[in-house]
Amino acid sequence: MNIIMLGAQGTGKGTVAGILSEQLGIPQISTGDIFRKNIKEETELGKKANEYITKGQLVPDEITVPMVSKRLSEDDAKNGAILDGFPRTIAQAEKLDEILAESGNKIDLVVNLTTPRDEIIERILTRRVCSNQACKTTYNLIMNPPKKEGICDKCGSELVQREDDKSEEAIRQRLAIYDEQTSPLVEYYEKRGVLKTEEVSSRTNHLGTDVAKEVIDYIKEK
Ligand code: ADP
Ligand code: ZN
Repeated sequence: MNIIMLGAQGTGKGTVAGILSEQLGIPQISTGDIFRKNIKEETELGKKANEYITKGQLVPDEITVPMVSKRLSEDDAKNGAILDGFPRTIAQAEKLDEILAESGNKIDLVVNLTTPRDEIIERILTRRVCSNQACKTTYNLIMNPPKKEGICDKCGSELVQREDDKSEEAIRQRLAIYDEQTSPLVEYYEKRGVLKTEEVSSRTNHLGTDVAKEVIDYIKEK
């Protein structure tokens, strides 16, 4: 089963993807995480990607698409994957269709998360992530704080703030790219009948964990 997590930054894609991955037994493939890992390890790919990421721009398809294609061909993804952060443009979505078709696969479900824009900015500014690459659990200082300040509940590693989460201006830039280049994917997948839209908001007390449960139930019913 191949699932795409769609939605703007800060809507909880990573949180929902992590739960779905655990429950369905298929890997979560997050392009942002793969880039950050490569940047940390100072690989060639990381160096190239960093030039764009620090400017708040999308990494070019020549780098991103082969990276995803390679990841999808790995053994643990043979029964599918939860894609988080890819595709981000119509061009990437078309490439993904081609990649999956080569192995006789397709996108089965697209979970589209929506959150009011002012809440999104608040959520990103108060987001903290576990610095342990193997864990990467996401917390929120207000909605979902760790039990011990600055420390991951799951693995005890230090919690950090992502560089691109530190300024409101950088966040607005990423949201503008989302509106312009990624949001057309909602219609792209809606037309195909695979889209499931869910609002995530602390105002209605409907959070990522609730959405994950609903999606699992939905998949079981199908
Ligand atoms: P966010 O969704 O909060 O921007 P991500 O962790 O998904 O964060 O991605 C971090 C950065 O990595 C993005 O701002 C972008 O520069 C780059 N990136 C991630 N996924 C893609 C993609 N599919 N295509 C191009 N660039 C990407
Ligand atoms: Zn951790």
